[in-house]
Formats: sequence, structure tokens, C-alpha cells
Amino acid sequence: MVISMKEERDLKGKTFETIDPRTGEVIARVAEGDKEDVDLAVRAARQAFDDGPWPRMTGAARGRIMMKYADLIEEHIEELAALDAIDAGKLFGQGKAVDIPAVANLLRYYAGAADKIHGEVLKMSRELQGYTLREPIGVSGHIIPWNFPSSMFFMMSAPALAAGCTMIVKPAEQTPLSALFYADLANKAGVPAGVLNVITGYGPTAGAAIASHMDVDKVCFTGSTEVGRKIMQAAATSNLKQVSLELGGKSPLLIFDDADVDKAADLALLGIGEICVAGSRVFVQEGIYDEFVKKLKEKAKNWVVGDPFDPRSRQGPQVDKQQFDKILSYIEHGKREGATLLTGGKPIGNKGYFIEPTVFTDVKEDMMIATDEIFGPVMSLMKFETIEEAINKANNTKYGLAAGIVTKNLDVANTVSRSIRAGTIWINCYFAFDRDCSYGGYKMSGFGRHLGLEALHKFLQVKSIFFVRETDKI
Ligand code: NAD
Repeated sequence: MVISMKEERDLKGKTFETIDPRTGEVIARVAEGDKEDVDLAVRAARQAFDDGPWPRMTGAARGRIMMKYADLIEEHIEELAALDAIDAGKLFGQGKAVDIPAVANLLRYYAGAADKIHGEVLKMSRELQGYTLREPIGVSGHIIPWNFPSSMFFMMSAPALAAGCTMIVKPAEQTPLSALFYADLANKAGVPAGVLNVITGYGPTAGAAIASHMDVDKVCFTGSTEVGRKIMQAAATSNLKQVSLELGGKSPLLIFDDADVDKAADLALLGIGEICVAGSRVFVQEGIYDEFVKKLKEKAKNWVVGDPFDPRSRQGPQVDKQQFDKILSYIEHGKREGATLLTGGKPIGNKGYFIEPTVFTDVKEDMMIATDEIFGPVMSLMKFETIEEAINKANNTKYGLAAGIVTKNLDVANTVSRSIRAGTIWINCYFAFDRDCSYGGYKMSGFGRHLGLEALHKFLQVKSIFFVRETDKI
């Protein structure tokens, strides 16, 4: 529920401000859900799962409602893209042309899968036979980060809906607005009451209450590795609910000598920003290093940072003051540690949370700017000589979310992609996704999988049913 500042006085419940990162001004006050509200939402979701129609209707019937939901989202693309632009600083043009249409299509993809959830018939012996069923896990709790408010909402909720689960969704406190709109559209699409419950509120209160709730069967978390650890602890000390974790990254982009330097610089710039898979460690082979540095500097200078509604902008503001300050302090740290600022490094303007695209050279692998996830427009450039060195440097991180390789040599591409311990590898591209192809982490980047049928299976559990033949006549 979004309420205006005027109405706030009349409400008994607590509220919090959501801020426009373009200006730092308050957009609206939003209900601050806490443990009590989570209890109510879980009760509603439990009842909808235990007694309601959603898990009992055919997959085809669930799919039809999800298709309607997708159509309604498509009717409101502009409003939804605008909400993510003012609340999260996402580029409006990209939201309108890519992110929100992709969300509608993701719902359609899982709607199409809802009636294709099968078990197996197992022939054990003539006397003993059996089969398996894939059943919905039950009530799932979804805790969402702020960097892709719409995509993250549906990467978790669309497969859960198809599976027949009921759910509680907590958007990040920085970006609650589009989630509330999606809850309203779910109602209009005919998703039954209690199936999709959105709670706005803070992580340590509302989020923690979901993770430790005794009646939540699964928690699906996308966010930082630090909070992911807390989610797992809460699951372990409550009811051992199933856990899916999609966590942070410090992904490498490896650019080999035979690469087209111009294209490689474009790819490198694509991968920076508030993106979990950001290619924030860029390793360039020594033969093209100097040329690459020159090209990247040129391109970074033309990279327009500005209002997300301006079609020329390639990068909007950082999501909030805290994130803005954190990024600037990493930049200061990088300078103090002895890295060279090739370009950027400063805030832009005196209003809102804009930061120049920032590239460091002379970075050593153990510097904080090369080890920590900064989650902003900051790139560390490093050099390598051999393939072995490139692989070792790429793997020298606690994370394993993604990696990019730029080369025309198929043998190098194959060898390196098999040697890097990460869940997604991009060869001669970066930040490419397809709803049919799952992605997720290795190592401390988690062990969930978003997208594809893998994600659907994360909301299903297998039941084995045995039966003994009663007749011995045949
Ligand atoms: P965050 O971990 O601070 O917060 C994520 C969510 O967790 C928010 O909804 C927050 O309210 C909630 N939360 C915070 N403390 C909690 C607690 N104690 N218990 C329960 N919930 C709690 O992350 P963020 O700053 O919103 O997002 C940035 C992070 O998300 C980055 O590390 C990024 O890499 C990661 N991320 C990963 C993926 C992926 O698919 N792997 C995608 C997007 C973002």
C-alpha cells in the first residue's frame, strides 16, 4: 500500500520514506511491515496453500491466470518503468523497452510450464510399483534486492506461481513502489487471495521475520553475501526451511590479445554499475593493454550519466545516499592504496546520487577495490600474460557468479570457460540473459538458480508413492 504524506497522520501503522535518487527527495511514505504483519501474511499464505484453490487447480488454469497477469503488466509498462526510474534510478527507456516487457514474457514462459510439471512412473518389480509426483513446496518467502526491482520480483515469483506455491514477497526498503503495483495487478488478474502477499519493510525486521518463520517452507533470497549468511542461519535455527541464495559477485572479464579492442571496451563498460554480475575486474592481455586503456578512457568520457528519463543517459543515479557514500569511499580507498585513477572518481552535480564512471589502472589483486563487491560504476583494470595466469586471476575471488571472455580463438574460449568457477560465462558478449537459461552462483555467490526450468524445480519437491499389487492372477 502506498500512502500520500497527507494521509500518513490518519494511519496507526508505522511508515517509512522512499526516496527519489535523482534528487534525494521523498516520493511517498510506505507502510512499514514488521514481524506482526509477516505473521498475518504467512497465515494468509498458509491458508491459501492448505485450503485454497491455487495448488489444487490444474496447471493449465494457473497458467491462464498468469497469462492474464502478464497482459495487465504489458498494459502498464510505462507506469511500471517510471516507478522503477523514480524509486531505483533505473533507466526509463530500458525499463520500457526491455525490463518490463521481459517480466511479462517471463510470466508467460512459466505459465506455459505450469501444466508440464511431471513425475515419473517407476517399474520396480511386478509386485512393488511406484511413481513420483512433483509437488509445490508450500509457502515461500521472497526477499528482494533494490537493483532490479521488477525483474527480481518475477524471477522469484513467476516460477513459484507456476509451481502452485503461495508466497510472501518483501521488496527492498529502497524500492517498494513497483512491487505494490504488481500486487494490485495480481488481484486484478484473478490470482486468488492469499497467494501473493507483498510486505514492504526493512530487512532486519520484516525480512528476518520471513527467514525465521516456522510456517514458511522455503526462503528465496537475492541480495548480499553478508545477509545471505544470516538467512541461512535463520533457516537453520527455525524450521530448517529450504533456502535458495543468489548473492554478490566480483566477476572477471578477460580480454585476449586477438580481441577487437573497440568492441571489448564497449563490453567492459556494459558490465559496470549496480549489477550483481558486473564485470568489475577487467584483465587485459599485455599485447593490447595500452591500446585498450586508451580506448576505454575515451568511451568512459562519452558515457552519459544523467536523469533516467533522459534517453541519452546510459547510467542513472545510485540508489541512495548510503550506496553513494559507500562507492565514493571505495574510490578514495583505491587512491590511497596506490591505484591510478584513469577516469571518473567524482560525484556529478550537487543534487541526487550521481557518480562518474570510474576506472582504476595499476590495480593489485589484493587491493580492496579488486576484492570487494563495490556495486557501483567502478572498474579495476589489470594485465596478464598467459592463459594460465588469466584463469588463476579470474578464479582468485571468493565469488563465482559470472565471467566474460573476449577472444576469437575457440580453443582459448573453451579452455577458459571450463576452467573458471562461475555459474555463467559470456563469450564475446556480456550481460546476456534468456528466460530459458538459468543463472546463479558458484562459491560464495550462492546456490540458487534464477530463470529456466531449474528455477521452477526449486519450488517443487519430489514425493515417491509405492504400491503393492493386490492380485496375483495375472
Ligand atoms: P541486501 O543484502 O542488503 O538486501 C537484500 C534484501 O535483504 C533486502 O530486501 C533487505 O531488506 C533484506 N535484508 C537485509 N537484512 C536482512 C536480514 N537481516 N534478514 C532478512 N532480510 C534482510 O542487498 P542489496 O543491497 O539490496 O542488493 C545488493 C546485493 O544483491 C549485491 O550484493 C548484489 O550482488 C546482490 N544481487 C545478487 C543477484 C543475483 O542474482 N545473484 C541479483 C541482484 C543483486
